[in-house]
Amino acid sequence: MAERLIVIGGDAAGMAAASQARRRRARADLEIVAFERGHFTSYSACGIPYWISGVVPERDQLVARDPTTFRESFDIEVRLRHEVTGIDLDRREVVARDLDGGREVREGFDTLMYAAGAVPIKPDWARGTIAGVFGVQTLDDGAALRAWLDGEPRPRRAVVVGGGYIGVEMAESLIQRGLSVTLLEQADQPVSTVDPEMGELVAEAMRGVGIQIRTGLPVTGLAERDGRIAAVQTAEGPVPADVVVLGLGVRPNVGLAESAGLPLGPSGAIRVDRRMRVPGVPGVWAAGDCVESLHRVSGLPVHVPLGTHANKQGRVAGINIGGGYATFPGVIGTAVTKVCELEVGRTGLRERDAAAAGFEFVSVVAESTSRAGYFPGARTMHVKLIAERPSGRLLGAQIVGRSEAAKRIDALAVALWNGMTVDEMTALDLGYAPPYAPVWDPVLIAARKAVDALAG
Ligand SMILES: Cc1cc2nc3c(=O)[nH]c(=O)nc-3n(C[C@H](O)[C@H](O)[C@H](O)COP(=O)(O)OP(=O)(O)OC[C@H]3O[C@@H](n4cnc5c(N)ncnc54)[C@H](O)[C@@H]3O)c2cc1C
Repeated sequence: MAERLIVIGGDAAGMAAASQARRRRARADLEIVAFERGHFTSYSACGIPYWISGVVPERDQLVARDPTTFRESFDIEVRLRHEVTGIDLDRREVVARDLDGGREVREGFDTLMYAAGAVPIKPDWARGTIAGVFGVQTLDDGAALRAWLDGEPRPRRAVVVGGGYIGVEMAESLIQRGLSVTLLEQADQPVSTVDPEMGELVAEAMRGVGIQIRTGLPVTGLAERDGRIAAVQTAEGPVPADVVVLGLGVRPNVGLAESAGLPLGPSGAIRVDRRMRVPGVPGVWAAGDCVESLHRVSGLPVHVPLGTHANKQGRVAGINIGGGYATFPGVIGTAVTKVCELEVGRTGLRERDAAAAGFEFVSVVAESTSRAGYFPGARTMHVKLIAERPSGRLLGAQIVGRSEAAKRIDALAVALWNGMTVDEMTALDLGYAPPYAPVWDPVLIAARKAVDALAG
């Protein structure tokens, strides 16, 4: 008789695992059933801001594989609109609720893949049911927001609460749709994934495209009129709004896991080993936004909810479930985003992370240009490096600039991953031609500046 794999969560991590397991084990050997509480499988949440703005015209362009494809091409059964409500490890069963039919179903498993992702952080004031207030965690959330923006009366004033990268991307997409946009951030600056001076460059660019930014301003509540959002309340008074988007960050979706007794780590996410097994719970695997990862620079367990990790971790789990051998080596926190023309890249530790991890370090910011200074379209680029003192080992890097800035972080990520020193980096054989870089690439200029700082 075939073994049975149950997958909880039908997006990046869950379906990557299911597909990889299927590649290695045929239907006669392994039956695969995936439960997804939403309407979609294998969708790009990362693409939601670009569908909201209209850059990506059709919602279904964000769906890589639908349930029919999974059934017909992979022999994987997907139960959409089924929310798993319980895991019984002793009986090796999950309990799920059919959200449309109202029925409860129980399914046995030999192997369980937990890939329930993350849930948006919602303070008490955001928990009500005022129409016009949205998170953007899933494609269903995105679809609800898009329907509101396209509906009548047509919203004109948007407030985005929270200036993380999702809040920033949503502010961009709403301004591109022609709304007036205010971004409210409790901290002193948006984009706290980079250090303050780099975040200020991002804030400047956001103001430059017409986004109003109000920092150091905690939200205290929401005001409604006739059941529709009317304003966001702050300590400095109400900010009028016809639509509110919450971008307050996420936490790992571990409610079910915790109730079943799966171990959580210090970050609050599920603990897993290098092969994505849940330690001490045979036959149970987890991956994606619900798990914690090893940070390869600080050596600490961290929760870094990014699609790039969810896909890789899901693949690793699936290879192992399928009888192969694969490991996930950890993360260094590389991420890129943009606000209109301005691009932002970051990898490794910020100054505050380096200090918290106990490193002695120097940091430098080098200003140069994206192309040879004389070449049309050359734009200013800021590269920040943080290097351990005295070894010179790179600990972190951030880039803010226009035209080809963001993906330059990849060269720095590879250097960081491989433990290079800034001195070694000054000799890196990076590509040069005037349309692409000055003869000294901004990355090399920053490395030279860091070497000087270490000597000083
Ligand atoms: C707006 C936005 C932009 C982003 N941009 C980027 C980016 O540019 N780059 C990047 O690397 N990452 C980005 N991310 C993050 C990325 O989308 C996530 O890291 C990735 O989707 C995580 O995949 P996952 O499979 O772990 O979780 P999810 O994609 O959250 O999938 C989990 C699934 O589980 C389902 N589920 C949860 N609980 C249950 C249950 N009890 N029963 C059944 N189903 C359940 C959910 O409905 C969901 O579909 C972005 C995220 C958002 C929201």
